[in-house]
Amino acid sequence: MRRPLIAGNWKMHGSRDSIGILLGGLLAQKLPESVDVAVCPVYVHLDQVVAACSDSDLRVGAQDCSHVDQGAYTGDVAASMLRELGCHWVILGHSERRSYHAESDALIAAKLAAALAAGLAPIVCVGETREQREAGEAEAVVARQLRGSLEGASSAAGLVIAYEPVWAIGTGLTATPEQAQQMHAFIREQMTGLGANADETRILYGGSVKPDNAGELFAQADIDGALVGGAALKAEDFSAIIAAA
Ligand code: PGA
Repeated sequence: MRRPLIAGNWKMHGSRDSIGILLGGLLAQKLPESVDVAVCPVYVHLDQVVAACSDSDLRVGAQDCSHVDQGAYTGDVAASMLRELGCHWVILGHSERRSYHAESDALIAAKLAAALAAGLAPIVCVGETREQREAGEAEAVVARQLRGSLEGASSAAGLVIAYEPVWAIGTGLTATPEQAQQMHAFIREQMTGLGANADETRILYGGSVKPDNAGELFAQADIDGALVGGAALKAEDFSAIIAAA
């Protein structure tokens, strides 16, 4: 069966002091052996987090990477550099990158290829906006994002998909377990169509996951864990979500 993965997306939060405290809280507890756990800080905190987690099972991820390996790309960071730093995971195509940085599916596919080439394990995000859901386009949007963002790599071993409805991110509005399950089942079906071993593909839910809704989300057949934003910034909440998996 698929091993649950709980990944904390710290977004652009924290300072060396505050993440030191957060990590202290997380590392003070024993992680359940049946769950994979990751934390994804901003680039400049990666070295600190990798060092702090070196003796634990907590793995570290970046929130993005470049689509190329070296070159004149001011401000970008290559996947191979992240790997060298000790990252295991990389989040790609988060809706905040898609909207604030106009990332296209084609660019995300290029980043995915770069990440895989460097040996990073990608978590590729997809999800519809509220307008798209209300217009009945949620499945069509997600199918298009999957096709475009995974182009050429949909059958890569270990690829993780995160379904994050944009309307649920940071809003306190969570998809109901039924809504999430329905989309996760649809994504798994799409993954089969794209040539992936869909039974082994982990599909995470993201969007206002909290200790009090995690259990019912994880009880759904096709939800294999979570990508957690706000609640990942409190050791107590993040630990409760890990325990629910
Ligand atoms: P949230 O963020 O848990 O704060 O809604 C999730 C995400 O954007 O990954």
